[in-house]
Amino acid sequence: MQGCPFCNIIESNSKDVLRAGLAAAFLDKYPVSTGHTLIVPVRHEADFTLLTREEHTAMWVLVSEVVESSRAEHHPDGFNIGVNVGEAAGQTVAHAHMHVVPRYSGDVDDPRGGVRWVVPEKAVYWE
Ligand code: 5GP
Ligand code: ZN
Repeated sequence: MQGCPFCNIIESNSKDVLRAGLAAAFLDKYPVSTGHTLIVPVRHEADFTLLTREEHTAMWVLVSEVVESSRAEHHPDGFNIGVNVGEAAGQTVAHAHMHVVPRYSGDVDDPRGGVRWVVPEKAVYWE
């Protein structure tokens, strides 16, 4: 789709884009951690939940590949793998994508809760 940053990346023929059938992967331009990668469907669709089963499968295959190569290259201690669906959930780029965020021991003071921090005042349940 014209004007979509992720369509532009997919169509760029860049060697920095990992392609596998219906999905592609590339580094996040504004990474929250070393190795932060985005997995996208080749087809322009904003809503992750509206992708086909085949697109979801292709994306999960790439998640596994990205995790594997990230482990080999960066030796992270964990990962957050997540999807923002819709503006209310924080989505800022209207081309569906999964975030693969490698995590490193000590990268934040207290990592407990992980993705629960999308709603900060409800994140802590263990106190
Ligand atoms: P969202 O908030 O929609 O889930 O995440 C959008 C992600 O896309 C953000 O993590 C942001 O850093 C990343 N991003 C925004 N523009 C670009 C771009 O032009 N290229 C790349 N590689 N990543 C981008
Ligand atoms: Zn697009």
